[in-house]
Amino acid sequence: MGPPGAGKGTQAQVVADRFEIPAISTGDIFRSNVSLGTELGVEAKRYMDAGEYVPDSVTNLMVRHRIDEPDAEKGFLLDGYPRTLAQVDELDGMIKHTGHRLDAVVVLTVDPDELVRRLTARAQSEGRSDDTEDVIRRRQEVYTEQTEPLIEVYRDRGILIEIDGMGDMAEVSQRIFDALGSGG
Ligand code: AMP
Repeated sequence: MGPPGAGKGTQAQVVADRFEIPAISTGDIFRSNVSLGTELGVEAKRYMDAGEYVPDSVTNLMVRHRIDEPDAEKGFLLDGYPRTLAQVDELDGMIKHTGHRLDAVVVLTVDPDELVRRLTARAQSEGRSDDTEDVIRRRQEVYTEQTEPLIEVYRDRGILIEIDGMGDMAEVSQRIFDALGSGG
């Protein structure tokens, strides 16, 4: 978890590689559906371009199918899911069914000024259609309103790991590995 620009996608990939499990990014799945022009992509794009969350019903079903795939059998890392309290409940149900257990929830913390700087840089390098100033602002608001409350839920469950997301990529990865007890 972490606000837009915290480095979730980058770190998710590094951590998943280390644990030899797939990184399942709901944002990436939506974006690939958008480029393929699927029905799901057309639906998702409306919300993504406005900086809003794609409805839970659509997102939950997509994750449910993805974690049922063979490569996720021995474990997986979710990047950008769950993002709402309803998704938390849904995920609990899903993994009860698959027999998985939620080991840890990693939250990346980054200064607001640094978030804006990173997202502006990403807008130039990747040209994501939701990295414009207005949409970035809306995404930050939606994160604060809908996703930040999840931090307390997972803290209460004793599985929350808060990581300082400032500094370079390798430093942040090392902090995550240390916190997850995977050495270095
Ligand atoms: P991300 O790449 O994780 O920043 O996600 C990009 C966009 O995809 C978000 O701003 C949402 O519009 C949508 N999205 C990704 N994950 C979710 C989710 N778990 N629930 C709802 N919408 C999502």
